[in-house]
Amino acid sequence: MHIYVHIPFCARKCPYCGFFSVAGKTYVKEYFDALEKEVFEQPVISSAEREGEMETVYFGGGTPSFVDASYVCNALKSIRHWFSIEDGEFTVEVNPNSLDEAKARAYKEAGFNRISIGVQSLHDDVLLTLGRLHDRNEALHAIRIAKDAGFDNISCDLILGVPGQREEDLYEDASCLIEAGAKHISMYSLSIEEGTPFENKYGDKLYEFVDEELERKMYHGLRDFLKTKGFGTYEISNCALPGYESRHNLSYWSGSEYYAFGAGSHGYLNSVRFAHPESIEEYVKDPMKRITEEVLSEEDKNKERCMLALRTSRGMNFELCKDYPDEIKKNLNLGYLEKTDTGYRLTSKGLDYANQVFMDFV
Ligand code: SF4
Repeated sequence: MHIYVHIPFCARKCPYCGFFSVAGKTYVKEYFDALEKEVFEQPVISSAEREGEMETVYFGGGTPSFVDASYVCNALKSIRHWFSIEDGEFTVEVNPNSLDEAKARAYKEAGFNRISIGVQSLHDDVLLTLGRLHDRNEALHAIRIAKDAGFDNISCDLILGVPGQREEDLYEDASCLIEAGAKHISMYSLSIEEGTPFENKYGDKLYEFVDEELERKMYHGLRDFLKTKGFGTYEISNCALPGYESRHNLSYWSGSEYYAFGAGSHGYLNSVRFAHPESIEEYVKDPMKRITEEVLSEEDKNKERCMLALRTSRGMNFELCKDYPDEIKKNLNLGYLEKTDTGYRLTSKGLDYANQVFMDFV
């Protein structure tokens, strides 16, 4: 079992961001009080489940490092008090401009053993286009801070396909991050999310600013580059040195159930997918409120497992594949899938048509 905790506070809203987060620190104390209440009073958690072993806890956002470290550390303490978690993976997401030595040390002392840094780029012009609040030096400094505080399991995010970004920028970024101590790199293609300032600016014409072919070249090029540095691509957007793959993210892709605490978080428990309202005020008033609940049938679960498994380098095993002979045949013929010793996975060509392939299985 796994736990996701959403901390929806950010210093400023990035113009491309579609995640649920708000700028500023209004209701921070009330929010963490509500979080504590949700953790302790979550009605769907039976005492038997509480005694079951938890494997991972992930504090994401938003920007967990934007708020005082004591809030995040106390929230982790509550979770660890309430759930049995031995040998767990405890991740906290941070941004370079809000991480300092004291916070990093506090996270380490509280038990976090993995830190995910929102670097996005080490090129100041790219960071400016993305509207980020940090520059290259701050990003590299954040990695040093994390290392000095005792973090070994360090992950960094990179965004590709940003207008004005060059292919070689990415390789240079990745090389510097690895040299600085990153053991895991997540790479995301810039996408235009509804209701964001980037939607006003680029609409559906991002391709006029970023050549689609170049974006794909960047993606494959970065994967290949990371491979030469010993990083395996274990999922479409994630590469890591052996042993540093994110256990939390792997749990999503294997279809595991997970708790979700906090406004705007999405969870999956007892075959039910649910979401909390994307409103801090509503969450503070009623932390147990769910705005959607979808009960998954065995067939739904199977379809979802296929789609999620296809995101990973391992792919779908033969057992999962047995209900989809036509879909498999079609995608094998198109060159989007290949057979392995254990099942089927996306080919290099298939990675560029991943969403199309997923649609065949849902
Ligand atoms: S820091 Fe992250 S979560 Fe916050 S606005 Fe920027 S991209 Fe979104």
